[in-house]
Amino acid sequence: MPQPENQTRKHTKQRKSVSSLLCKKLYQEADNRCPFCGVADVAVLEIHHIDSDPSNNQIENLIVVCGNCHTKITRGEISQAAVYSKKMELLLANRTSLRKGEKSPMQSVNVNAVTVNDSIIANTVTLNRKRSPRMQYPMDSIGADVIKKGYIDYLIKRYYDYRQADASYGSIRSFSYAEIHTTIQRRFKAKTFFIHISRFEELCDFIKGRVKQTIQGKRNRSHYIPNYDSFESYEAEQLQHG
Ligand SMILES: [Zn+2]
Repeated sequence: MPQPENQTRKHTKQRKSVSSLLCKKLYQEADNRCPFCGVADVAVLEIHHIDSDPSNNQIENLIVVCGNCHTKITRGEISQAAVYSKKMELLLANRTSLRKGEKSPMQSVNVNAVTVNDSIIANTVTLNRKRSPRMQYPMDSIGADVIKKGYIDYLIKRYYDYRQADASYGSIRSFSYAEIHTTIQRRFKAKTFFIHISRFEELCDFIKGRVKQTIQGKRNRSHYIPNYDSFESYEAEQLQHG
């Protein structure tokens, strides 16, 4: 019996629809707003596959973003590393609030769309809350200081970007975007942004050390190219631009 001819079929990854339960979780995780620009209009929110594989519906690979930011991600104006970093933040923030057993008074978000095709969710999300509290970092934690937190984000992003560059130099050392946060947590006995503010410099030095150890970091150093801005100049720039 002749086999059906499908040899020419390309190995394109099949898009799989995101279940409504998963949608709901993702919208809750994002607090029904775009984590990049903060827009809270659910009609413009979409689900993005971080690794660009539309068949990978692992919750770690999915993030709610607005249409605008989605375009920026697709164009590379928002780097994949920045998206992973943001996703990690959302995951960590959610785990923390779950552990504390804090039930937000208005948890329910009804996503009526059963399937999500082409990353566009039907705008049938019912909101039962006006505005939920943003993730609160404890006082005296690095997360509570916007500029210091921003600088840590910046260093971590630099590390991810360099690791990505390393791959283009042929480094086969695999890495996961969760890695640095896990390493930090193991070393500092606290999640990245929950670390006490008094350890800010120690944390900076630690991440800087990681950046310097990348192939890209070593190349830069050998060419006297700075690997990152100092906290002082980062801070000055933030204060200048608000
Ligand atoms: Zn956005």
